[in-house]
Formats: sequence, C-alpha cells, structure tokens
Amino acid sequence: MTGPRRVSLVALGLLLLTACSAGGSPPSTATSTSPPTTSPATTTTLALPTTTTPTSTTTPTTTTLPIDPALAGLGDPYFPTLGNSGYDVVAYIVALTVDPDENTIEGLALISGWATQDLETLNFDLLGLTVDSIEVDGVAAAFTRDGAELVVRPRWHIPVGTAFHVEVAYHGTPENLYTIGFPLGWVDAGDITYVVAEPDAARTWFPANDHPADKAHFTFHITVPAGLTVAANGTLVEVVPGDGVTRFTWEMPEQTATYLATVVIGNLIRLERPGPGGVLLRDYLPADMGNELPAPLVRVPEMLELYAGLFGPYPFTEYGHAVVPGMPGALENQTLTAFGREILEDQGAFGRPTVEEIVAHELAHQWFGDSVSPATWQDIWLNEGFATFAQWLWVEHDLGREAYDATIAGNYEFLAGAPHPPPGDPGPDGSQMFHYSVYLRGGLTLHALRVEVGDDTLFAILRSWAERHAYGNGSTPEFIALAEEISGADLTALFDAWLYQAQLPALP
Ligand SMILES: [Zn+2]
Repeated sequence: MTGPRRVSLVALGLLLLTACSAGGSPPSTATSTSPPTTSPATTTTLALPTTTTPTSTTTPTTTTLPIDPALAGLGDPYFPTLGNSGYDVVAYIVALTVDPDENTIEGLALISGWATQDLETLNFDLLGLTVDSIEVDGVAAAFTRDGAELVVRPRWHIPVGTAFHVEVAYHGTPENLYTIGFPLGWVDAGDITYVVAEPDAARTWFPANDHPADKAHFTFHITVPAGLTVAANGTLVEVVPGDGVTRFTWEMPEQTATYLATVVIGNLIRLERPGPGGVLLRDYLPADMGNELPAPLVRVPEMLELYAGLFGPYPFTEYGHAVVPGMPGALENQTLTAFGREILEDQGAFGRPTVEEIVAHELAHQWFGDSVSPATWQDIWLNEGFATFAQWLWVEHDLGREAYDATIAGNYEFLAGAPHPPPGDPGPDGSQMFHYSVYLRGGLTLHALRVEVGDDTLFAILRSWAERHAYGNGSTPEFIALAEEISGADLTALFDAWLYQAQLPALP
C-alpha cells in the first residue's frame, strides 16, 4: 500500500486535485457593517464591447498614490496581501476579447460592491497587464500600481454603506504564477486556453478582491475568433456571432470565490446529459477526443446522487468538466472542474486513487470548497480533507465497507511512515497547503469523527455545515463548534490531536 509509486500517486492526486483554504481569523470586512443602501447587483449595466475597444477616454494617470497597508490585504495568515479591506464585492462582470494566437486579452471589468468603511481609496489585486483607464461611478479616477496592488482614488470619497461601481479597462498578455509548482492563472496550452487559479492567480486575468472571503456573482462576456468555443462557470446564456468573432456570455449567479472563476477557450465540443435532481451535466472536451464521454466521467450522476444523499442537495444547477491538455491534475472550478486530459486518457496507469475517485473528489468540492469556501487559506483542510473523505465514501459506495476500511488503513500506514505537517496548519506561502497531509490526515480527521460520533451524527454535521455556510465561508473553529453542537460531545481533544499536533494519533 505504500512505497514510491504510491507516494507519487498520492502527490499527483493531491496537487492536481486542487484546493484552497485559509486559516486565521475571518476577515472583518464582509460582516462588520451595515448592508448597502442600494443593491449593486441589480443596478449594474455594462456596455458590451462588440469589438475590442475599451470604452473610456480617460488618459492613464501618472499620479502616485500612497498605499494604505490596512486596505492592501485581508490579513490572511498565509497570504497577508491577498484580497483587500474596506469593501465587499457583490458582482464582477468581466468582458474579454481574446486573441488566442497571440495570447492577448483586452478587458473591461465592472466591479460592483459597497464600502464597509469610509474609503478615500479602493485597493484591488491585479498582477501584470496594462491598465488603460478606470472609472468609479462613471467618473474618471486616478490610480497607481505597486506590484499586484492596484490603488484607485475616486474623485469623491465613498462613505461606509455606499454602493460603488468601478470599471477597469486593461489589456496585455496574462502572466502565470507558480505558487504551487505548475502554471496558474490564464494558461496558454496551445490549442486550448484555460484558467486554473487556486490559490492566488485570479489577479492575473482580472482586477479582483482576490481572496475567498469576498465571494461574488460573476458574468463573463468572452469574445473569441469565430469557430472557437468558450466555456465558463455557471450557465451559458448567449452566443452572439459577429464579424469574424463570436461572443459567449456565461452567468454564475451563486456566490463564487475568485480562485474558482474560470474560462476555457478552444475547439471544444459540449456533451450534455440530464443529472439527478434536475442538475444539468455538461462537459467540454477537446474536439479531437471525439463525442464519447471519457470512462472516468460516466458515473458522475451516481456520484451526484450519493453525495446529495449524504451532504444535502447539490448547491448549483449545472456541473461538468473542461478537459484541458497539460494540466497535472484537476481543479474544482465552480460548476466546471478543470481536468487534465493526460490523466483521463492514461487512467489505466494510475492504480489508487483511481481517476474515477479523483472525479468524485472534485465533485465533492462543489459542496466543500466551492459552496462553502474557506475563511482563510489556513483552513485548506476544510476543502481537501473533506473532498478526500468524500472520495473514500465513493469507494465505500462502489466497493463496500471493506474497501473503505482498507483505504483508511492504507492511507494511515502511509502517513505513519512519512513526515508531514499537521493538516490544520500546514504552513504559509502555498508551499505546503497542498501537502498530502492536508488531504490524507485531513480526511482521516473526518474518519476519526465518524468513529467517535457514529454515521447518523457525522452526516448530520456535514449536512448542517453545507447548509449553514452555503455560498459563504467557514473556518475550522466554526466547524469544530458545529460538530460539538450537533453531537453534544466535547471534541476538543479529537480535533486538536488530528489537526494540530505533530504526532499522528492512533487510528480509531
Ligand atoms: Zn481537492
């Protein structure tokens, strides 16, 4: 069960599988003040570029604005400069005209939000690219850039509780980040361009409050050369042919973390099938893969049914995969998991976890990670430990309790012989957040809880977690408190041992 082959498989499964998380204290921005006096989401309109030209005539300012450190981050324990304080984004409308051959974009991003404090300046995260102009509530605004911080000074200050609309025109070739070892952000993979951004790469393709604590609605208007197809999060609502181009509009009405926003562009085919509970299943494959669903994706309806029974209703209306070349894993983008083509096609070479188990893992993230996102990146085990445990539940469903027990024992044996950080605090900077401990010992933490409280109580806890924090965020202390509330048990020692102590606890 262990050995070099298993180790490499585990590492592959994990890195690939995704993640996100965070730890530390929840940001204070989103909840500390009164609600907006108007609703930005319903009042925004955006003139869509039918071609490519940014709309503003404002000339870029050369003003140097001071950066207020209190606004330039959300205090994440692992990524302190990610995200920004002082406001809450309600909706992003991202309009891009894409030249895939040149790997360039021309963008117009409309960010609607409301101030959670009085603001003289607004900070956004944006790495690389050229900003052409910025307007706040229709009036040209000064701005300055310092690394990934984009600081905007509106003509007038924004009082607390007030809604605002910021329009950013920008262009260029997006950069990639290598935070967790392979290209993140807007990835030019030859025939196909795709976005995988966990944990910190949304800022490479649109100006954002780039932290999972500030979730928002998304609309994408993506214009590409005629003949190409665009997939993105949520629902495809419009395809408009133009002069040598086609514009695809996608809407993701449920709150989405910035790192789970995605666009996939290429010569793609869409395969559609009805799923249980009225969920529409739509998968996007490179056209040369043919019209047949890859075998590991075939049982997704059965997985959906299993997880809806255990965790509560699937949180969105659609699900599927975008199969992309060159990606060493998979990532649970909201309603549209990105899945490496080579992994799907080489499935026979993998052993355990099987590719089908990875498919189940990514689906489970739609509950744990996507609908319920981590409060900070230190809480990453709430994503990866949960999805790994769910993947083992698929093994139990498919192969029986003995196979589940063997999986638990095998992973425990592996961990016992492999140095690892505790999953509740794997370490900063992204270097350890996708460590196998976060997946395996995180998953074993839920197994230990299962043994302690029994199946009925465990699944009541998981259903309540998914329901109470739906489309929002959750932290590790909140999960522990919920588990104690529902079980009526003191679980302090159990969670402390499994999540925070260096020594691996005994397997219950
Ligand atoms: Zn995962």
